[in-house]
Amino acid sequence: MATQDKTLENTQLKDIVSHAKEYGFVFPSSEIYDGMQAVYDYGQMGVELKNNIKQLWWKCMTQLNQNVVGLDAAIFMHPLTWKASGHIDSFNDPMIDNKDSKKRYRADVLIEEKAARLENEGNKEACDALLAEMGRLLEAEDLDGVRELIIREDIKCPVSGTTNWTEVRQFNLMFSTQVGSVAEDTSTIYLRPETAQGIFVNFLNVQKTGRMKVPFGIAQIGKAFRNEIVARQFIFRMREFEQMEMQFFVRPGTEMEWYNKWKETRKVWHEAIGIPAAKLRYHDHEKLAHYANAAVDIEYQFPFGFKEIEGIHSRTDFDLTQHQELSKKKQQYFDNDLNEEGKPYGNYIPYVIETSAGADRLFLMTLCNAYQEEEITEGDAVKTRTFLKFHPALAPVKAAILPLTKKDGLPEKATEIFNDLKFDFNMIYEERDSIGKRYTRQDLIGTPFCIAVDHQTLEDNTVTVRDRDSREQVRMPISELRTYIDKAVNFRSILEKLA
Ligand code: ATP
Repeated sequence: MATQDKTLENTQLKDIVSHAKEYGFVFPSSEIYDGMQAVYDYGQMGVELKNNIKQLWWKCMTQLNQNVVGLDAAIFMHPLTWKASGHIDSFNDPMIDNKDSKKRYRADVLIEEKAARLENEGNKEACDALLAEMGRLLEAEDLDGVRELIIREDIKCPVSGTTNWTEVRQFNLMFSTQVGSVAEDTSTIYLRPETAQGIFVNFLNVQKTGRMKVPFGIAQIGKAFRNEIVARQFIFRMREFEQMEMQFFVRPGTEMEWYNKWKETRKVWHEAIGIPAAKLRYHDHEKLAHYANAAVDIEYQFPFGFKEIEGIHSRTDFDLTQHQELSKKKQQYFDNDLNEEGKPYGNYIPYVIETSAGADRLFLMTLCNAYQEEEITEGDAVKTRTFLKFHPALAPVKAAILPLTKKDGLPEKATEIFNDLKFDFNMIYEERDSIGKRYTRQDLIGTPFCIAVDHQTLEDNTVTVRDRDSREQVRMPISELRTYIDKAVNFRSILEKLA
């Protein structure tokens, strides 16, 4: 049974990957040179979908919350930043090599995959025990213990199928490069492995210039780079990816209240974009990072199992304290309001709650969730219809304008409609092939509405609008199109659920 499920899961992911390539969502990077592992490019449809996801996140953070503002920090940062954050000294991942296949894996990922298999087989108790033991060993930095656990659990290399493992070693995931043009003058800098530190080092700049009062947040979207050892599962784990992070600065002692609030708010966000609640779950961390006093992942049920899409971390005052120490610049906030509450005025380093989502993982989740295959009857024939059921607000193209034929003045009329609506929506105009084929093409890229212009249009200024999901058509005046489409595709319908 488990094997059958596995095959089904693999087929689903394989179908989604090839669909993404065939219809212009995601291409392997530098494909003409045979590609680069774990690096991908977004095509003409993919970039629209990804931009919509990022814009929606941005608006939810900065437009719905008076006390959250944005930032766009540089990718390169002073090398001491990474000393302060702990990325140079303590952010090492445990890795293990298989001597037969010569493949390298993250030891914790191998164990987590085994735990997921146990859970799928209905053995939840063994799964939890395994994760708890791994947590204990990693906490104690007992790398020999981690290796023994892998051997004891009979975890095999997926490529060679053997348990011929090396010892477990620590590996730094940061990419480094040189800055400066003359050899003697160069110094090593890093491509940022997370966007958060750009926010921390600008905490006082934003607080002072924006006259922000704690509690407040700073949101940022940007690229991050990690030299991931395991490059699998399509865009789930990439070496160059994009994060959408928000650091929320709070008074010490109030952090758990805010942690719970953001934990809840972020899960509701995923549901608001159309992800079924049953496909989302929380997963508390077994091992807390050195900076955290609470941490949870929001996981989505991908075809390859429940996996992290976003992390919510209570990071204490670790980062700001570290930056204060290394930069020798005070990172304190003066809290006037403490006096009003009868407490003395206070200078303190705020505590931080972080919400950290991967734009690419949310993209993959949205694509997996949208991918539909259904059986339909056309005349006597039964066929499989594939379509992408995106939330209309996220769909790359909102409407297609389709003249029924290429003559009789229909293209001119359709172009007129297109030229009017293009100021409001991203649309496609198409007159090649039969109308049926054109509907199919729009289904495959997830366009919510197809607007057909026919001979009746010339007489009474009405068009038919076909709905992607139900395939039903309604006739309506051209003058109503804007309102009709806008109601479905406007971010407002999602924002209202979150306000
Ligand atoms: P994982 O355990 O899967 O490696 P992580 O716990 O290291 O993830 P964080 O450091 O918390 O991830 O990063 C926050 C978010 O950034 C993740 O929830 C994920 O959506 C995204 N992310 C992290 N690493 C990658 C990657 N290599 N490729 C794509 N997205 C990533």
